[in-house]
Amino acid sequence: MSRTTYFVDVILPLAVPNLYTYRVPFNWNDSVAVGKRVVVQFGRGKLYSALIRHIHQVPPKHYEAKYIESVLDEKPIVLIKQLDFWDWMSGYYMCPIGDVMIAALPGGLRLSSETKVVINPGYNLQENGSLLSDKEYLLIEALELRNTLSLQEISEILEQKTVYPVVKTLIEKGAVLIQEELKEKFKPKIESFVRITPYADNEDNLREIFSALEKKASKQLDVLLAYIKLSGRYTKNALPDEAGANTYTEVKKSDIVKAVTGAEAALKSLVKKDVLEVYEQEVGRFIKHGNATKISVLNDVQQQVLSSIQEQFGWIKADSSNKSALPILNVASAAPAVKDTVLLHGVTSSGKTEIYIKLIEQVISRGQQVLYLLPEIALTTQIINRLRKCFGDTVGVYHSKFNENERVEIWNTVLKANSGGNIDDNSSAGTHTADYKLVIGARSSLFLPFSNLGLIIVDEEHDTSYKQYDPSPRYNARDAAIYLAHIHKAKVVLGSATPSIESYYNSQEEKYGFVELFKRFGGVQMPEILISDVKEATKRKLMKSHFSPMLLDAVSLALQNKEQVILFQNRRGFSPQLECNTCAWVPQCINCDVSLTYHKASNQLRCHYCGYAAKPPSSCSACGDTNLKTKGFGTEKIEEELAIFYPNARIARMDLDTTRSKFAHQHIIQDFEEGNIDILVGTQMVTKGLDFDNVSLVGILNADSMLNFPDFRSFERSYQLMAQVSGRAGRKNKRGKVIIQSYNPDHSIIQNVVRNDYLSMYTNELLDRKNFNYPPFYRLIEITVIHKDVDMVNASAKFLADELKRQFKQRVLGPEFPLVSRIRNLYQKNILLKIEREASVVQAKKIVMEMVSKFKTSEFKAVRVQIDVDPM
Ligand SMILES: [Zn+2]
Ligand SMILES: [Zn+2]
Repeated sequence: MSRTTYFVDVILPLAVPNLYTYRVPFNWNDSVAVGKRVVVQFGRGKLYSALIRHIHQVPPKHYEAKYIESVLDEKPIVLIKQLDFWDWMSGYYMCPIGDVMIAALPGGLRLSSETKVVINPGYNLQENGSLLSDKEYLLIEALELRNTLSLQEISEILEQKTVYPVVKTLIEKGAVLIQEELKEKFKPKIESFVRITPYADNEDNLREIFSALEKKASKQLDVLLAYIKLSGRYTKNALPDEAGANTYTEVKKSDIVKAVTGAEAALKSLVKKDVLEVYEQEVGRFIKHGNATKISVLNDVQQQVLSSIQEQFGWIKADSSNKSALPILNVASAAPAVKDTVLLHGVTSSGKTEIYIKLIEQVISRGQQVLYLLPEIALTTQIINRLRKCFGDTVGVYHSKFNENERVEIWNTVLKANSGGNIDDNSSAGTHTADYKLVIGARSSLFLPFSNLGLIIVDEEHDTSYKQYDPSPRYNARDAAIYLAHIHKAKVVLGSATPSIESYYNSQEEKYGFVELFKRFGGVQMPEILISDVKEATKRKLMKSHFSPMLLDAVSLALQNKEQVILFQNRRGFSPQLECNTCAWVPQCINCDVSLTYHKASNQLRCHYCGYAAKPPSSCSACGDTNLKTKGFGTEKIEEELAIFYPNARIARMDLDTTRSKFAHQHIIQDFEEGNIDILVGTQMVTKGLDFDNVSLVGILNADSMLNFPDFRSFERSYQLMAQVSGRAGRKNKRGKVIIQSYNPDHSIIQNVVRNDYLSMYTNELLDRKNFNYPPFYRLIEITVIHKDVDMVNASAKFLADELKRQFKQRVLGPEFPLVSRIRNLYQKNILLKIEREASVVQAKKIVMEMVSKFKTSEFKAVRVQIDVDPM
């Protein structure tokens, strides 16, 4: 044991600006390491699990270091590369590193003295109690009496200060859960499936089984035949795929029971005879095979795009012989410098995923890891299934709809892959035994403990869901991915049919590499896009509610042809409200400065900002009249009206309300895929990365509301939304149709969508951005002051803005109230800072931070200041 006095600087899971220094007792000198958790006291005796960032021998200047209470981990749970990433995020997005730690670590790894512990309902004390230590047993007994205990209370019961190690091992033994996990009440839908046993999956054996069954068990024979038919096994379609695995469809038990009357008993007998077996699995995760979009070989265009990306990455030498063989392809100019990031601009349904798969294969074969980022993972079962099919168990999926247990498990599995598989083996007790080579995830997966990333794919890179708005860190996962790749010396592919202006600009400036893919895959044509002039139709009194005759006729035709329809209604400005017919009074939220939204299904008024809910009043609160009507045209209303126009159509809706539960998206998508829905009505969600085989018509109900939204990005966004939703139309053998309803058919953005002319949209937008000092020419920093007293907000915002103007002059805009100036009884006001791209943003941020801390010691210290770098 060394007698040197060590200190550790730790990151606390709190929004404090600085690291905090603690002293290491001699006997733990060998146990501390950067990236391990330690238990420390902070504030009024509260305990936290903090993370070691530095180890050194310098005592803190301004306070006497307390001792750490204990060391939690045998091995680091966070790696140096991640800590570097956290540092960058904290600096770039101007937020405390504790905020980054809270965002990065799953809750299960972030215990504090207020953390509540409960018994895991699935734990059997009778059976497993003998494996517990005395203290663990004592704790379980206490929990059986009192249901929940805070770590503080546990400390009192066990009469010891440090209870974290006990709780930690109990979590690992599956005996207790931290309470947060119980909030999630969903039950994954489990379904029974049937498959052939390895014994029967053999030509000779199967022949024998058949002849035996033919003689005396015809019912069993029917069941076996039904299985073979449904699974597509032993048929021509069952060709091996790229990975060499046979393709066949998984068969639900319920389908067999449907196909053969009295199948249950026969199935049991077949299971007994070891011919078939029944297994259970979560629905939504199973793999669908034989999809028409499935390919095993890249076509020529895709192959060229792949080679171009590989060349630009410097993975292969440029091959001049196969360049410009096809005019469709716009490869970056000759002899390119090696790029770390390449933008792949490929139209919808052009087969980008297949190109990604080839890149992933290449990286994995080198023994490196791949991160595949998706904007909203709940919507993208299709892609996950596709990748699982190629990469099997080495695919990990990570997102916020997982509960804490699942998140910790995935965290540990990724960590385990780093250390060659022998990190703390009992900490990853779970079903995942394979190492993840490929992780598919939403933005939070950037924080997983990768040690050897070779490639990050940012799919749909333009999507606003990559930005975290609240809480801090307010990061953009696309931009953060580029920095993370830089740490790992990895490459990044940004993919989109409608790239963000920023990324496209970076590629034009040759900061990023660039490749375009303009041909849809498998001969699917780009859809025909028509505009329906709503102004004209209204004048001629032809509108039926919000539907033009052109759209209604097209829907009828599609339904007649047994084809599917998607109708898109922008979320903004269309929430249904209650309004007094006499005086136009609209019920307002009591906490926020917004009108309440009317939900017909639950007959409730709800605030979408704070969650406040109330019963609709029976009379007007202003004039007392009882004549209240609903106004607005949300998706619920559209669904309702469609049911009147098309009484025989099966109509479903996909929006925030219908997709709250964990698997709701997947169920709607699955129903639509299986043809159980004729018309799908939805908000932004229906624009995202879904490919359906039978959609012939897409209707955009109101293009104007998007275009008129007051935001410098609204044209760009409108283009992206309309182009993306249009991309859902089109089938293999038939050109799809898109109808855009608008009062302003000549609008340049609508015209750009019709002509599929991204470049014009980009060129016009870029000019505006330049003229009005917006990104990509300027960087934006938005500073928001928040307080419950409106006068305080006004005065403090003015004070801060004046201070900033002294330094930054005309680069400061505001202060101004945002569109919604009061949320949850707190008023807010924004100040916008625009910094030239060439200027030192680091310097500017430093000045801003100094001013904010000065502000924090002024008369306005009670005012909350929120900083958003690169707001979206
Ligand atoms: Zn509210
Ligand atoms: Zn009234």
